[in-house]
Amino acid sequence: MRLVVDLNKCQGYAQCVPLAPEVLEMVGEEALAYDPNPDDSQRQRVLRAAASCPVQAIVLELDPPADRDTR
Ligand code: SF4
Repeated sequence: MRLVVDLNKCQGYAQCVPLAPEVLEMVGEEALAYDPNPDDSQRQRVLRAAASCPVQAIVLELDPPADRDTR
């Protein structure tokens, strides 16, 4: 799973942070830090966090080519 937060859109409301605290984190008052390649076990949390964002700043790619099983 790939995750990008559009920091131009992000208003630092931090609604998303408690929903996926292992992936999203506030640094200081307004800066959001995030794991761009969260583990699949975080999928449900990340989806909830993305849905909670009032400005749709969290963009997810759920099945990027690099994560696909090529066997
Ligand atoms: S909920 Fe949206 S606007 Fe708020 S910190 Fe998270 S990404 Fe940024």
